[in-house]
Amino acid sequence: MNDLKDKNVIITGASQGIGEKIAEQFSNYKSNIFLISRNIKKLNNLKSKLLINDKIVNCYSGDVTDANQINDIIKDIYNNYNKIDVLINNAGITNDNILATMKYNQWHEVINTNLYGTFNCSKSVVRYMLKQKSGKIINISSIIAQIGNKGQTNYSASKAGIIGFTKSLAKELATRNINVNAINPGFIKTEMTEKIINDKDFLNTIPLKKYGSAEDVANLACFLSSEKSNYITGQAINVDGGLAM
Ligand code: NDP
Repeated sequence: MNDLKDKNVIITGASQGIGEKIAEQFSNYKSNIFLISRNIKKLNNLKSKLLINDKIVNCYSGDVTDANQINDIIKDIYNNYNKIDVLINNAGITNDNILATMKYNQWHEVINTNLYGTFNCSKSVVRYMLKQKSGKIINISSIIAQIGNKGQTNYSASKAGIIGFTKSLAKELATRNINVNAINPGFIKTEMTEKIINDKDFLNTIPLKKYGSAEDVANLACFLSSEKSNYITGQAINVDGGLAM
């Protein structure tokens, strides 16, 4: 995907896990990358690894739930680098509990980070993508949006919301040369899934009989950001070893 070279790519939640791997992949394609998450120390550690590819790597301490912070960061990127080619809305959290005992703040925290955060970052970049008449937005949802999961009413609602958001925004922007798609990862080995990953019975429910890697998700994120996916918009594509088929 040579066309990713020199593209300006913003990745939220890039300090670890799937976001970190997506950043590495774009760096391998020689994109300029702009990393956002709350932990600036972790982002700077990642930056030192990525700089070997001689491209711009900028880190921003930002909380996706803070619209003012996100607007300032995105404005700064656009004013200094003149273009925003790709936004990957990857920042996300879980805070599990069965509904009967779920605290109100557990609901709000997850919906705010996953769904409102996706809205905030997308709204902020869209004004520039409309001006430049191009762009790709990729939202990281989850197969839990499709199949549900005990203890995750908050998470599944936030991720299902992302799929609806993706389809509506794709329709709004389709005539403006801006593609919007979602990725639904299955069970990917990261800190988020540490506890489940050791459960052998669970592994057997996955048709491919293995967990996914962050790289599996990053591969699709890069494809959906490249010109090779120009005729794909409004889709939510599973990367799940067949779990949700
Ligand atoms: P991790 O917990 O490993 O990483 C989450 C990332 O999101 C961190 O970089 C964190 O950085 C960032 N983040 C969290 N809250 C905020 C916030 N308010 N503002 C900015 N950044 C934030 O998770 P994964 O890498 O596993 O997950 C990445 C995405 O993939 C998430 O959206 C998740 O829901 C989704 N997903 C993951 C699956 C899996 O199996 N792992 C399956 C399906 C979907 P920091 O703390 O520095 O802010």
